[in-house]
Amino acid sequence: MVASIGHFIGNKLTPGKSGRTGDVTNPATGELTAKVAFATAAEVDAAVAIARKAQVAWAATPPLRRQRVMFNLKSLVEKRTDDLARLMSLEHGKTFDDAKGEAGRGLEVIEFSCGIAHHMKGDFTEQVASDMDSWSIRQPLGVVAGITPFNFPIMIPCWMGAMAVACGNAFILKPSEKDPSAPMLLAELFAEAGAPAGIFQVVNGDKAAVDALLMHPDVPATSFVGSTAIGQYVYHTGTQQNKRVQALCGAKNHMVIMPDADLDQVTDALIGAGYGAAGERCMAISVAVAVGDVGDRLMAKLAPRVAALKVGPGLDPQSEMGPLVTRQHRDKVMGYVDLGVKEGAKLVVDGRGLKLQGYENGNFMGGCLFDNVTTGMTIYKDEIFGPVLSVVRAKGFDEAIKMVNDHAYGNGTAIFTRDGDAARAFASGVQIGMVGINVPIPVPVAYHSFGGWKASIFGDHGIYGMEGVRFYTRLKTITARWPTGIRSGAEFAFKARN
Ligand code: NAD
Repeated sequence: MVASIGHFIGNKLTPGKSGRTGDVTNPATGELTAKVAFATAAEVDAAVAIARKAQVAWAATPPLRRQRVMFNLKSLVEKRTDDLARLMSLEHGKTFDDAKGEAGRGLEVIEFSCGIAHHMKGDFTEQVASDMDSWSIRQPLGVVAGITPFNFPIMIPCWMGAMAVACGNAFILKPSEKDPSAPMLLAELFAEAGAPAGIFQVVNGDKAAVDALLMHPDVPATSFVGSTAIGQYVYHTGTQQNKRVQALCGAKNHMVIMPDADLDQVTDALIGAGYGAAGERCMAISVAVAVGDVGDRLMAKLAPRVAALKVGPGLDPQSEMGPLVTRQHRDKVMGYVDLGVKEGAKLVVDGRGLKLQGYENGNFMGGCLFDNVTTGMTIYKDEIFGPVLSVVRAKGFDEAIKMVNDHAYGNGTAIFTRDGDAARAFASGVQIGMVGINVPIPVPVAYHSFGGWKASIFGDHGIYGMEGVRFYTRLKTITARWPTGIRSGAEFAFKARN
């Protein structure tokens, strides 16, 4: 049975009207499981109109009441975590455990949004001049849009949606067309939690829906997470309309391994961070920089572990790594492995030939491990977004940090060492937004903020935490005096305040 997935408008599941659809497949079997509607500009326009109306009352709702809705959402997401995780695993391919972890990371942001009354409270200064007071407040923007990637179908809509809604905006989500079912369930949970109709909506679609949101005069801000090429397009298109845009984009995260690091810890960290979710994470480690004489010892430990990875369907509890999201993406990743061999890197573990009995049409591949990768190779420069780890060798710390800093991307990085000096110099000097010290995937907790540097971000705000509050609100500052009696007449010149 092939299901039909429409939109979620005004707190109702709504069928698509355009007749255009996209295929949703099960990555483990290759089966077509659903057709997802692709919205037209007119459908986007209708959703914006509903959102616009609802937002006025929502913005006027005391933050205390808005945050109670977020509390309800928190317990609903907790209750329905297994359902969300199952949907994610069936359409994305990630393991059930990993999908549950993803929902947990989304929950952290919902929990942060439960304190929105506190996070939005303003500043007040008494007596900025004689008998004059001043205060600053943050007000929501109106109707805001979120465009999200396939690889975190719940966590990233929560990063954006929880913050935007708690701040008093109406939020329109345009999720990835590859795995729309989990975000549709999230929208139902928002409604069940008490979000009024029109406050959290889902418009499914492709470029046409994204363009309609970017060009819409009643959508003043857009959050985007996805690839750098599309992120740049979204940023340029939105800002040309004088809108606020944040675009969090691609990555090539390096882990620097110093000669004094504990190599058993490093190996565990690289296996999890390089091959977890089949490498389809923007914070995955895709380059290991082996410093000094550590390279050969590291390879001896790493290679057998990569070769022994248990690959299988996401819902099989034995699987450590699931399939890639689509056949097209798997072929692209395999193409990069072919290219790495051509470029002269040493393919120490080759996962290209993996076949799984009973899952011949699934998008599986085994883990791949390259040694002797150099900085001029395409497999070093490009984001591959698959289970492919490249080991590069560096003579010393200075060469290692230079590699990280010279790379176009700047999302995350890590150093593994027992040396506090090296770790401190790395954390201070590295040109990257999120840094781990003996932590391979340093995703900040919700009360800090997430965001890379360089080609990994366009725009000035990180996502969630106080950066999220700043992105989804604008500042207003009021200066007040209540004069009594004496009138001083018109003043034509600015004067120092006193
Ligand atoms: P993608 O750029 O292909 O798609 C992202 C979104 O943009 C989707 O909703 C998609 O429908 C839409 N889109 C696709 N083509 C478009 C077009 N031509 N015009 C307008 N919109 C378009 O990304 P993806 O493959 O879904 O996700 C993987 C990418 O996301 C990787 O590059 C990964 O590093 C990145 N990512 C970054 C972060 C981060 O926080 N920096 C987090 C997760 C994923």
